[in-house]
This record gives sequence, C-alpha cells and structure tokens, in this order.
Amino acid sequence: MNVKGLIFSAIASIFILTSCATSKIPPKVITKVIRDTVIINSKTEQPEMTRAAKLDNYKVTTDYYPAISQDNRVRFLILHYTAINTDLSLKVLTQKDVSAHYLVNDYDDKVINLLVDETKRAWHAGISNWKGLDNLNFSSIGIEIVNLGNKGNDLSPNYTPYPDYQIKKVGELAQDIVKRYAISPVNVIGHSDITPGRKFDPGPLFPWKRLYTEYGVGAWYDDADKLLFISQYPWDTTSSVFITQFQTDLKKYGYNVPTNGMIDTQTKNAIVAFQMHFRPEKYDGAIDAETWAILKALNKKYNP
Ligand SMILES: [Zn+2]
Repeated sequence: MNVKGLIFSAIASIFILTSCATSKIPPKVITKVIRDTVIINSKTEQPEMTRAAKLDNYKVTTDYYPAISQDNRVRFLILHYTAINTDLSLKVLTQKDVSAHYLVNDYDDKVINLLVDETKRAWHAGISNWKGLDNLNFSSIGIEIVNLGNKGNDLSPNYTPYPDYQIKKVGELAQDIVKRYAISPVNVIGHSDITPGRKFDPGPLFPWKRLYTEYGVGAWYDDADKLLFISQYPWDTTSSVFITQFQTDLKKYGYNVPTNGMIDTQTKNAIVAFQMHFRPEKYDGAIDAETWAILKALNKKYNP
C-alpha cells in the first residue's frame, strides 16, 4: 500500500472507530493511527525519521492527527552531466557554489556519491522552469553524471557516449528516487528541458528510452501513437495557427514557451531540448512530422 493509501486507511479507521464508539478517541486508537501512517523504508524495514521541532518548554507531540492534504516536496528528478572528469566533478560539486544530491562517476565500480542529503536543497538547476514552476532546486533531486559532454558547439554532434555500467547506476538510482517520491514520469527531466538554450545536459546521447524501458523511469511515447500522428501531419506547417498549437502542446508537456505563433529563439531552443530528449537523431530546432507526432503522442499518453 502506498503512503496515500496508508493515510487514507488510517483516516478511515478513525471514522469507523469514532462512529461506533464514543465521541472521544481513546489513546490506543491514536497510537494505531501513528503506526499506520509511518513511512516504512522498504530496504531497512525501519520507519523513516520524523523531522520536527524539539522544544525545551513545550511538547511537540508525535501523537498527531495526520492531515490527508500532504505530498512530497520533491516533485522532479533532474539529470545532468558534469562536462568534467570524476576528480574535478567531486571538487567542484563539493567546494564551489554548485552541487547536486548525487554524483554518478564514470568508473566501473559500485560507488555512487551522495553529496547533499535528500532533505536539503542542492544547487544544480539554477534559473529554470517546468510546467509553470520556477527555481526547481526547491522541489527536485539532482543527479550529476560524470560525462565530458560536448567540447564543440552545443548543437554539434560531438557529444560523449555514456558507458553501459554508468547507465545501470543511473537507472537503479533514478528508479529508487522516483519510487520513493512518487515522481510523475513527465517530471523526470534533463537540465536542458528546464533551461532550453542555456544548458544542453545530459545531451542527446543520454538514453532516455532505455531508462523508460529497462527501469520504468521517465516518460516515453507509444510507437503506434507516433505513427498515427505522423499520418495526420498537416500540410500547412508555417501558419501562425499551426505554430501556436505546437507551442501550446510544448507548454502543455512542460516546456516554458510563449504561444505567439512565431518560431522565436525561446521556442526554437525548447524544440532543440525536446528533440535531444525524445528524438535525438536530429536536434535542429525545426518542427518536422516526427517531432510534431512525438509531442502529440506524449501529450495523449501523459496529459490527456
Ligand atoms: Zn546541468
């Protein structure tokens, strides 16, 4: 049963017990409520620590009535590449004014570094926007992956491939995080998705499809939908009506774009980011049938 389910069953048990007993809830029942709503760590089988004020003069009681209106502060998982090697990455991400929760090195070993506690804010996203929300450092977990990125122009094809063992680390780590915070598939994103034109990591060689198919992490479209939409690609793709609709679809998926009917710089940058994520074979920022169809297929699946 998930956390919401646990809370719901706890509330339900209060209802049942109060409706068939006296109006005063006996302490025994409250104890049961607490047990029911504690989050049990699936690996250690231990309850998660409760973080709350501890005061000298007052008892901040843990015998609390849990509110049903609550969710996780963490809503996004953001992936990056460091563009520098492991040693330098560790130095920069621990000693400079930039950080991430996790660093996945590029060694074939069993180590993943935790640099910032998940309950704290890491500084990895900067000025960013996704689904209308700004400053995603507040609401995200950031994973930095050691990868040298692109030493040439950001739009050149000179990106660095990710070794298989590194993707396995990222996959298992991401799967664990997404599960614990119930992060929506469309909220597993790259730095480039939330800062189009400013950042390009984790780059077009990051295997988002593999993350989806092998680890169930993030979003991916259904091929049948893509093919269906390709067959519906309109003839007039230069009209402002067509472009406004495409921008509306991009915005609906999460990208921060205007809906002005023009392929301006902001829109073009978002298309590049979208292509790097979902159609990495070509990331020229131009709308084409496949790009258009994939966006339609994604919205059909995730934002119906
Ligand atoms: Zn980044």
